[in-house]
Amino acid sequence: MFQFVSYKTTVALLSFSLLLSLPCFPAKTLNELTAAGRNGSAWHDFARFVDVGRGSHVSGMSELKKYFHRFGYLNPVPKTNFTDTFDDPLESAIIAYQKKLGLAVTGKLNSETVAQIMSPRCGVSDASRELIHVTRHYAYFYGEPRWTRSNLTYAFSPESTIGYIPQSDIRAVFERAFLRWSAVIPINFTIADDYWTADIKIGFYHGDHGDGQPFDGVLGVLAHAFSPENGRFHLDGSEKWAVDFGSEKSKVAVDLESVATHEIGHVLGLAHSSVKEAVMYPSLSPRTKKVDLKMDDVEGVQALYGSNPNFKFSSLLESDTSFGWAVGSEMRSSVTSLVMIVFTFTVCFL
Ligand SMILES: [Zn+2]
Ligand SMILES: [Zn+2]
Repeated sequence: MFQFVSYKTTVALLSFSLLLSLPCFPAKTLNELTAAGRNGSAWHDFARFVDVGRGSHVSGMSELKKYFHRFGYLNPVPKTNFTDTFDDPLESAIIAYQKKLGLAVTGKLNSETVAQIMSPRCGVSDASRELIHVTRHYAYFYGEPRWTRSNLTYAFSPESTIGYIPQSDIRAVFERAFLRWSAVIPINFTIADDYWTADIKIGFYHGDHGDGQPFDGVLGVLAHAFSPENGRFHLDGSEKWAVDFGSEKSKVAVDLESVATHEIGHVLGLAHSSVKEAVMYPSLSPRTKKVDLKMDDVEGVQALYGSNPNFKFSSLLESDTSFGWAVGSEMRSSVTSLVMIVFTFTVCFL
């Protein structure tokens, strides 16, 4: 998707996409747009780091280091602030990031890497220990938490919802999303009326909603969910959620079913996959539908729960090209602490 060939091309395309995606901003230069950012996000300013070399000192490079720190690629936090120098730890972070995201591993801030950094992604801290997998890319949270019951209920918050999509449509979206997972593992999901006693609690929230991970308005952070057996599933109520791109024309519309399917994977215990086609890959662009489980998703969740006796792998083989990837990772988190999965989207989409 991000096949940039030069810095000029990158700047031109990013300028174009930013102009398309930020109709609230008047036409300005890329620098003005990216400096203005959106909701305080500094990601839009990262285009200027394309081809910056090791040892270079560029004002603002510390923000890139904060990005890598946020997603678990640069640890620990220095006693003083991050510097603006492209140093060895940053190079190591870039290498680890490129491995995790399935990019060419160069340790350089090439256009492909910077574009990926700026692109929509799930904001989970990717602090991980790399494992060598021969044929799989899926990952789990540290400790591999999973549900110990096979019948799970889900419910929607009666207060924290959105009004512009009919409840029946939202319910249908989630029913389809849950069915995709229950078709491959012996877990049943049933909608419940009582939100407070349901295993999986789904709601749309705005801004700071009390769990330390405030949402940030249109795009940016989209949603987050918690690992087993917590069940909290929060979506950013400020997004332009779509159940049908035919009727929802917004350039920043986000497919509810795709995000629901991805987040259910987290609720079940899957972390991010390095397989770009997989539902559990961290990135998803606005106006993109990605709801079909791939072989990597299925193998990952079945390793946790076993297979649904009615599931046949042959049903996946025809459309799945993800089989055979070579590197995976295992997510690290505290077994006793909640794992926050944050769907973070920038405005870079092509
Ligand atoms: Zn995610
Ligand atoms: Zn939340």
